Amino acid sequence: MVEEFAFDNTEERRRSRQNGDAGWIEVIVGSMFSGKSEELIRRLKRAQIARQKVQVFKPKIDDRYSIEQIASHSGMTHVSKPVMTAAEMMAKMEDDTQVVGIDEGQFFDMELIKAVTELANNGKRVIIAGLDQDYTGRPFEPMPQLLSIAEFITKTHAICVKCGNTANYSQRTSESTERVQVGAHDKYEARCRKCFVPHSDKPTVV
Ligand code: ADP
Ligand code: ZN
Repeated sequence: MVEEFAFDNTEERRRSRQNGDAGWIEVIVGSMFSGKSEELIRRLKRAQIARQKVQVFKPKIDDRYSIEQIASHSGMTHVSKPVMTAAEMMAKMEDDTQVVGIDEGQFFDMELIKAVTELANNGKRVIIAGLDQDYTGRPFEPMPQLLSIAEFITKTHAICVKCGNTANYSQRTSESTERVQVGAHDKYEARCRKCFVPHSDKPTVV
């Protein structure tokens, strides 16, 4: 049985492995700069301290940082394998892996839903971080579907750069209407519900 908050309890995980139990799915969602990658990396490092076998994946589309690692805006990093599709991730999955980390889940294809279900069914702990909304505030697939099937959900928040309130939105500050436009402070800023507009806006001068 999966206890509440078992996702943060690596001892619990080890016991379930021995019993041959199923694994589970954890999802971390929020706007840009909300600390999703930090939280993912924190959980992965704890799993490694518990000497569990960890594999980490990220979609190839995200070329913000070094290709062989995931990174937070605050400088935390963890090694990862870049993959184009969920199918490629499954092909690279090793049988004895106990914990699977996935960053930038919103850039994966819809096959990710089936893939993580299979991994959890096979006893693995799967942790997926990703944006829950695009730059217009619409749900960003496949994250809504992953939220529906996850055992554990964590919503992280940033700080609105305009007013200091809790930020739930990624405000686009570059002129583009493409849904996928990879960038960081150069193209986005965190905003609250009051300050967010569902289209490009001029950056806040700080
Ligand atoms: P995400 O993966 O959600 O984009 P990261 O984990 O990469 O977030 O980065 C979170 C870090 O970003 C924070 O710890 C902080 O140092 C930095 N940061 C920059 N701008 C903001 C902001 N507006 N609100 C909160 N944190 C911010
Ligand atoms: Zn605001």
